[in-house]
Amino acid sequence: MDPVLAGDLARLPELLQAARDLAVREVAGLAVRPVAASGPAPGRDPLPAAGVGGDAALARFAERWAPLFSGSAGPRYLGFVTGGATPASVAGDWMTAALDQNLSGAGGSRAQELERETVAWLRELFGLGEAHSGAFVTGAAMSNTVGLAIGREWAGERLGVDVSRAGAAALGPLDVLSGSPHSSIEKAMSVLGLGRDRLRPVPLLPGGREAVDVAALETALAGAGGRPVLVVANAGTVNTVDFDDLRAVAALKERYDFWLHVDAAFGAFAALSPEHAALVDGLDAADSVCVDLHKWLNVPYDAAVQFTRRRDLQLAVFHNASPYLGLPGSDPDFLHLTPENSRRLRALPAWFSLVAYGRDGHREVVERNVALARRLGAGVDALPGLELLAPVRLNVVCFTLATDPSAKRVAALARAVAASGEAYVTPTVYGGMPGLRAAFTNWRTTEADTDRVLAVLAAASGRGS
Ligand SMILES: *Cc1c(COP(=O)(O)O)cnc(C)c1O
Repeated sequence: MDPVLAGDLARLPELLQAARDLAVREVAGLAVRPVAASGPAPGRDPLPAAGVGGDAALARFAERWAPLFSGSAGPRYLGFVTGGATPASVAGDWMTAALDQNLSGAGGSRAQELERETVAWLRELFGLGEAHSGAFVTGAAMSNTVGLAIGREWAGERLGVDVSRAGAAALGPLDVLSGSPHSSIEKAMSVLGLGRDRLRPVPLLPGGREAVDVAALETALAGAGGRPVLVVANAGTVNTVDFDDLRAVAALKERYDFWLHVDAAFGAFAALSPEHAALVDGLDAADSVCVDLHKWLNVPYDAAVQFTRRRDLQLAVFHNASPYLGLPGSDPDFLHLTPENSRRLRALPAWFSLVAYGRDGHREVVERNVALARRLGAGVDALPGLELLAPVRLNVVCFTLATDPSAKRVAALARAVAASGEAYVTPTVYGGMPGLRAAFTNWRTTEADTDRVLAVLAAASGRGS
């Protein structure tokens, strides 16, 4: 064994202790460090020929890279839809790495059953019935891709084409209908050979809503002339957290033949709050469902879950039979269900967080985040320099400058907020209008944090940036 490697083996407890000490220092610093990293990236070091050992690597990382990372795990990073990592989920992630299981199949481990247990808990958390099976994937974009891949296979079933063997081209054009789809839907369509141009936008409800007009969706379905189509319903849009009426969309299945995929990346968490659970009524009727976990479950990147009612079709798409892997049985190994073959025990951080905090603990995070979004929304509304672009429906505040909200001035405002080190918000365009979004998803955020964000917004917008 390389002597440096042998030395690390001998000192493994000390090395892990040192890594723990650095992590504790970094995480404790989240409340005070600048929220966004500033300064240029360092130049590249050459590939090390001789290694320096784990302790020296840790020291080099702490000195050279850690200061350039963002405080995105902290309480005032409100960009995109960014969750943090609960304490127990970090412990679970460390165990995932330390025990290094390959979740592709049983292979001498029962770790697969832990993923199945976690999927069953999540299914219950989001109000899905037992007809849905699920698997962990890396994120909502991948969950959407898998859901649409199963939908593509379903379209083949309707047309008498085995897509997994004959290829997507054998299907002919397959339209995807959606009101306000996330950008990852088009990416999935590109990956799956459906083509980005087959996305058919469906009109939205009037009054600046991002929810689909169900009557217009029905018209579009009637216009499909009996050809199978995929419908992507949206449960929680990124700008204003609007929800399609899932019940009404699902009811159309009585008259039209379509695959219903619901992108509930973070909106599914409305199910945890009695006040908002009605927003996801009808979710169970979907053929496939996407839920992100590194957003509102607050587990470390990367984790999402993918549910479907048609595991048989999922198996047709993803099965990976070989002499040494064997044929998939009645409870197929995960390598037959997702794009990956080898995969990490991505479920363990979620398992830890659900065991540690339960449904109640996670509900408290969701309800607090919603209350804080309302608090910031009311504050923004009261500022002379800013105005809300939409009511605060759940956990996102979408707003812009009260005067001359050009893309340039709005981007400058976002930069000024980031440069303050106090907060981070991200630009968007909503209804053709440049604006900013502040998304509350982090388990740590408090009223005091929210008031600090409001203060920096007041200062930056007051300066006429
Ligand atoms: C974040 C998000 C996605 C993409 O999720 P990733 O985890 O970044 O892959 C898809 N849909 C919606 C609605 C989202 O909010």
